[in-house]
Amino acid sequence: MSLYAELHRHLGGSVVPRILWRYFQRNRPDISGQFPQYSEFEQFYTQPRKTLAEYLELHTLVESVQTQEALPYFIYRLIRGAYVFENLAYLELRYTPYLRTPDHLEMHDRIEKMAEIVEIVGRASQQTEYPVVTRQILCMHSRLPAEVNRAIVELATQYPQYVCAIDVAGGDAHYRDRLDELIGLYDYAQRRGLKTTGHLYETEEGCYPDLLPYLMRIGHGIQIPLRYPELLKEVADRGQCLEVCPTTYLKTGTLQDIRALKTVFDRCFEAGVDIAICTDNAGLHNVRLPFEYENLLTQDVIGFDGLRACQEAAFRHAFAWPHDCQPSSVITDMLHRQLSVWAEEEGDDLETLISPASLG
Ligand SMILES: [Zn+2]
Repeated sequence: MSLYAELHRHLGGSVVPRILWRYFQRNRPDISGQFPQYSEFEQFYTQPRKTLAEYLELHTLVESVQTQEALPYFIYRLIRGAYVFENLAYLELRYTPYLRTPDHLEMHDRIEKMAEIVEIVGRASQQTEYPVVTRQILCMHSRLPAEVNRAIVELATQYPQYVCAIDVAGGDAHYRDRLDELIGLYDYAQRRGLKTTGHLYETEEGCYPDLLPYLMRIGHGIQIPLRYPELLKEVADRGQCLEVCPTTYLKTGTLQDIRALKTVFDRCFEAGVDIAICTDNAGLHNVRLPFEYENLLTQDVIGFDGLRACQEAAFRHAFAWPHDCQPSSVITDMLHRQLSVWAEEEGDDLETLISPASLG
């Protein structure tokens, strides 16, 4: 069994439709009542949207129910599912803490409340029943005031045990008027020792080269290989990794065909730019990480060697994976040791014993 690392998953989009439906039935009959059958709810929740903006609207539905009280319920189920169905060993979960605070409060009070949210998410993630190393990424938001975004960065510095990085989300078309402000916040974050990622070069409207150097990983970034391949060299030189989330581009209308991603992978591999394959919103898409992998293989976007390189890159670029290697190398080491013992007993050469050719 392989174990995987997931670097780009939103808390809001991580709830699978069945779990959300059960929650609505128990706690929000006003919402579940709008859908006579589960299948109608699933259809509404997972259907593709025309634009990124329309798609992001759906997040607000989930955000509205992921309150302080309900967060542990959703997080427990999220990690249980990630462990059992996705073989995740490592998960970076991202969200905007401000949007989980009660919206009837004044801005200042909501800012105050954010720390509680980080603690609730942190405590709910630290369990050993389904062991997945989990850290939070706090998202600034392109439609929240600068004061809130700055408070989010401050908050990230205060919880190193729970928070591994900052991000900016909310639709990359909205950064245009606030670019200096965002660059200032990223610069500040880096000076405070925070790790950085950001939704950038996701859509054609979201390409801002000035922001690019401030990111250690690039949330999506697919427009770089697609439309600005001349930037790939500097991306490779900076050791930046692209977080590619294949299903998203079909759900948001950014790409019409998943096979368009072949250019993304081919150009990045050629330029020496790492890619981590991620889900973005596994629940909203109803597509878990192993199926993202499988889809790319069956659509001939990548081959098994490329897939493996991306899976290794995910652990390498993880902000808080505590080891030098990915978990499967522990098992490989064990197998090597066992095979060495056998080879010695049989008088065989170990290299011959483990070569794929010896398996026929
Ligand atoms: Zn995202």
